[in-house]
Formats: sequence, C-alpha cells, structure tokens
Amino acid sequence: MDLGLRGKKAIVCAASKGLGRACAMSLARNGVDLVINARTAAELDATAAEIGSATGRTVTAVAADITTAEGRAKVLAACPDPDILVNNAGGPPRGDFREWNEQDWMKAVNGNMITPIMLIKAVVDGMITRKFGRIVNITSGSVKSPIPELGMSNGARAGLTGFVAGLARQVARHNVTINGLLPGPFLTDRLRAGRVEAARKAGITVDEYIAQYFKNSPAGRPGDPFEFGEACAFLCAASSGFIVGQNLLLDGGAFNSTMG
Ligand code: NAP
Repeated sequence: MDLGLRGKKAIVCAASKGLGRACAMSLARNGVDLVINARTAAELDATAAEIGSATGRTVTAVAADITTAEGRAKVLAACPDPDILVNNAGGPPRGDFREWNEQDWMKAVNGNMITPIMLIKAVVDGMITRKFGRIVNITSGSVKSPIPELGMSNGARAGLTGFVAGLARQVARHNVTINGLLPGPFLTDRLRAGRVEAARKAGITVDEYIAQYFKNSPAGRPGDPFEFGEACAFLCAASSGFIVGQNLLLDGGAFNSTMG
C-alpha cells in the first residue's frame, strides 16, 4: 500500500528506542525524511544511522530533552515545517498517589500533556497553510482503561486527549489530523525493565517471565514495536485525512469490550 508520504518531513520525538523508534522507521520506509530526538546522543546517533542506511532517507538526530522549552526549540530549529509530528516522551513513574507531591505532578503534566501541546502549537498553523498535516500523539492504553499504579500517566495523558479532541475538530477541514495511538504492552526496553524484579523473584529470565505473563492474554503475547510503527504510518497516510480525533488502542485485545 502506497501511503502517499514520499518526500514528506516528520519530527518523531523520543525516538532512539522503543515505540518512537518504530514509528520513525515505519515512516522512513514510506519515504519520509526525519528529525528524530532523544536525550542520549550516542544511542540517538546510532538509531539515526540505522534508519538512514535501512531506508535511504535523511535522518537528522537532535539530542535534547523534549520536555524542556530549549529542547523543543532545538528540535523545531532542525525542522520548522514538518508535515508529520509524532509526540512521545518517557512516561511518569508508577506508585501510590499519596507519595507524589506537586512537583511530581507538574513534571508528569509537563512531559505528557504540555510538551505535546507546545509542539502542536508550534507546527499546526504551518500545516494548515500547507493543507497537509498529520499529528500522532503516543499516549497509553491507560487513557481508556486506567492503570491504578500509573495515576500520573492516567491523568496527564487523559488531559492531552481531552484537549486534542477539541482541537482535532478545528483543524480537520485543512487536511490536518490529530489522533492518539494508545499502546498496550509492547516489548520495548521500558516493558522489559518493569519486569526485571518480578523475573528475578520467580527465578526465571525476563523473556521467560514476559512469555508466561502474556500467555493468557487474547493475543497470547506482547506487541511488537514494529506493529506500532506501522499503525503510526497508517494514521499519517495521505489517505487518512478523514480519521480525525480518534484514539486507536493497540493492545492485542486486552481491553475487553464489544465496541469502542
Ligand atoms: P522506551 O523503550 O524506554 O524508549 C523511550 C524513548 O524515549 C527513548 O528513546 C528515550 O531516550 C526517549 N526519551 C525519554 N524521555 C525523553 C525526553 N524527556 N526527551 C526526549 N526523549 C526522551 O519506551 P517505550 O516503551 O517506547 O515508551 C514510549 C512511551 O509510550 C512512554 O511514554 C511510555 O510510558 C508509553 N507506553 C509504553 C508502553 C509499552 O508497553 N512499551 C505501554 C503504554 C505506554 P533517552 O532516554 O535517551 O532520552
């Protein structure tokens, strides 16, 4: 399927690893030139080189903390007029909400709500003028089905989702779409790191623990980041202009419902 994206330009935030990297790779495979971002320069440069040599596209690495105004300015300076913006950043920590103070909440809301909103604000008017824009916000399945120990994630990401629900309907007539991509469990470093202690206690490897843990889920396995990247590219396709303000849950069927 030709997604009609050859020659387009994308900013993919938090993309040296995991879901962001997978989105960047899928977009590049579809002919998109990239500015990718993460904080750790060495890992980011290696990812940029890998994607560039696998796809032949131009991949520019901008090492910066996307949750800061300076970091966002660096990324936007490298690509002031993107056709595609994929918003992503690290997620807030797990815990009991009684342990979180005001600063913890400010950090979570800044990283997972205000940061993507600031980036959208910086690029959306250019997209409107050029009559093409695709914005994908990587949020979490927790937006749809809250995860009790991830209260800050539930809250901050739901805030972004609420804001975007309104804005998406204001910009759609200009062929600018904004949608959410909601990951359930995907096999990334983040997912692995969260299972290290449990695997150690069970006396098995992390991969064995993960295989056992997901055996009884509908898909019987965690998601492959490649599958996530491909869904992102689809939402960015030229022919996806009528997909507006949606929240696509990719969780292998874990959220149990007849519809929606
Ligand atoms: P990951 O494998 O740990 O990768 C995270 C990426 O983000 C890395 O490239 C990291 O590089 C970068 N990053 C983190 N904080 C950043 C910042 N402040 N500025 C710029 N780059 C930053 O994580 P992932 O599994 O792909 O998760 C991506 C997002 O999806 C997270 O918000 C996570 O909470 C959410 N999510 C993931 C899953 C899952 O199953 N994987 C499920 C639900 C939600 P540096 O550390 O070098 O900056």
